Amino acid sequence: MFKVRFNKYRYVKREGNYIIIEVVPVPNKCEKNVIKEKLVSLRLDYAQKLSEKISQIDAIHDRLLNGKWVHHDAAELHCLLHKLAGEAGTFGFKEIGQAARNGEIVLKDLVDGIKDPDSKQRRQLAGDILKISTSYRQASLSKEEFEVELPVHHTTPAENLHMDKRLIFLLEDDITLAAEMVTYLEYYGYQTRHFACISNFQQALEKVEPVAVISDIMLPDGNSAGIIKDIQKNRVTPLPVIFITGLEDMSTRLEAVQAGGVAYFLKPADPTRVVDTLDSLVNDRDKEPNRVMIIEDSGSVADFYSYILRQAGMETMVINDPMNVMQPLEDFRPDLILMDLYMPGCSGLNLAKIIRQQETFHSIPIVYLSVETDTDIQMEAMRPGVDEFLTKPIKPGHLVSSVNSRVQRARILRSFMVRDSLTGLFNHTLTKEYLGLEVEQARRRNGKLSFAMIDIDNFKLVNDTYGHPVGDQVIRIIAKLLSNRIRKADIIGRYGGEEFAVIMPDTDAEIATNILDKLRLDFSQIPHHYGNDEFTVTFSSGVAEFPAFPNAATLCEAADQALYAAKNSGRNKVVKAESKDLVMKELR
Ligand code: GH3
Ligand code: MG
Ligand code: MG
Ligand code: MG
Repeated sequence: MFKVRFNKYRYVKREGNYIIIEVVPVPNKCEKNVIKEKLVSLRLDYAQKLSEKISQIDAIHDRLLNGKWVHHDAAELHCLLHKLAGEAGTFGFKEIGQAARNGEIVLKDLVDGIKDPDSKQRRQLAGDILKISTSYRQASLSKEEFEVELPVHHTTPAENLHMDKRLIFLLEDDITLAAEMVTYLEYYGYQTRHFACISNFQQALEKVEPVAVISDIMLPDGNSAGIIKDIQKNRVTPLPVIFITGLEDMSTRLEAVQAGGVAYFLKPADPTRVVDTLDSLVNDRDKEPNRVMIIEDSGSVADFYSYILRQAGMETMVINDPMNVMQPLEDFRPDLILMDLYMPGCSGLNLAKIIRQQETFHSIPIVYLSVETDTDIQMEAMRPGVDEFLTKPIKPGHLVSSVNSRVQRARILRSFMVRDSLTGLFNHTLTKEYLGLEVEQARRRNGKLSFAMIDIDNFKLVNDTYGHPVGDQVIRIIAKLLSNRIRKADIIGRYGGEEFAVIMPDTDAEIATNILDKLRLDFSQIPHHYGNDEFTVTFSSGVAEFPAFPNAATLCEAADQALYAAKNSGRNKVVKAESKDLVMKELR
């Protein structure tokens, strides 16, 4: 059985299928210290094994030097030096790693060409191997030496105990404007505390930490930008501020930026655009951890890099046997694959080709982490669409930032491909793809899942009365309401023009119906504007549950029928699909 570790779920392989046996959360601060300890102990373990590895290398080298040059021995020595080059540097023995690497280069030509060494090559090899043992004898094996230098992370406010993730401070002396803004923010799931003067705002800020501030500039007791600028000076992480003001001059804009202003709106500000800005701030901090699959034949090296990435808040899965990659890849769906180039059974180059031959995995970034420093070989290895070549040993901070930036770029590119441009929701195709995947997950876990279809009521009338752009705005508002109010694990797609689909894993139809009904009620109360006209819009929804409807196709059909029933019985309703309804239809 091969080893698969996954810090969120732990899988065991059973009859070709993976079943989840354990759920482990992403490390918090305290666990990060445990991880740090683990990194140190991995290094210490390696140090202990090192003397044996070096003796083995010395023994083969002695045989080669003192007797006849046996090619089989030379190949074995090459293999040992190659491994040592990759591992020793990683675990803090830089000089040993370098000497092993030099020795490996000398041997590579001899092994590839099945040649005997000339006297210069013998001398070089002997020098490198001597360097390995002298460096080892001189190395300090004290624990302090093994502290791993980890990248520094700024504490995000999300880690601050007093911070409420959706609390907004609103500083505005115009009571009407403030009331309107508060209403909008609350519709979109933000909690708001309103202040009409700077001093009250400052006092509150000492007690509780909002996720962002929305602020007017001219207030009865002064200029907020100047004061917020001073507040920011004493903070580790700047407080994000959105300014909404009637002042249009350059010097006020400058002051706003100096005060940590992330956005600047002129009055009257469109509340949905303000909410958009807030969402991007909050989601940035709240975003899903990066998922990295590490494919590396050396178990201890793989663990070492895995701990480094986990310490930086990522989720990792380690695969030691490249021949067993495909199913875990399907299950784990990594954001990035970090892999070794030289592995027994299947080289990184061939594995990259295999992965790229499958459409589903086309856009996953692949990054090599290898001891190979020859740029010709590196270029060749990158031909099947590999994104980057990192060389071992690598500084933890460098690894973390490379992985982060690759994942971020891939996520942005992917979002252009799969998201609808008007709403930012998943498009039809991807929503259906997700439904299939989630149904399979639910089946494996013996769990439930709800699928809901939502359709705006009499939407044609909205377009006909107020025009298409106003209709578009209504679509954007419902999309925003859905994405802000639904849980992180849920998936929302724009299914068609004014139709939306929601996939709710681990949720029975009863709960899903309640959630949707609450959203229905809230949406029906949002005022939409057209000139001086104010109007409201409603939606209807149909909900179907897995396993009552056992696959994606029947779930879609049942939800659609329930939606039809909701429309027929007067609209502005949520209807749950009963399994007998569909059966009856089939019988008829
Ligand atoms: P019902 O309550 O039965 O759903 O009535 P309805 O008027 O909402 O349904 P119908 O299917 O007759 O009309 C849907 C309308 O939605 C027609 C189409 O022009 C409009 N629509 C579809 N996509 C968009 C869009 O992206 N923007 C705007 N503004 N309108 C759209
Ligand atoms: Mg290897
Ligand atoms: Mg429709
Ligand atoms: Mg409609």
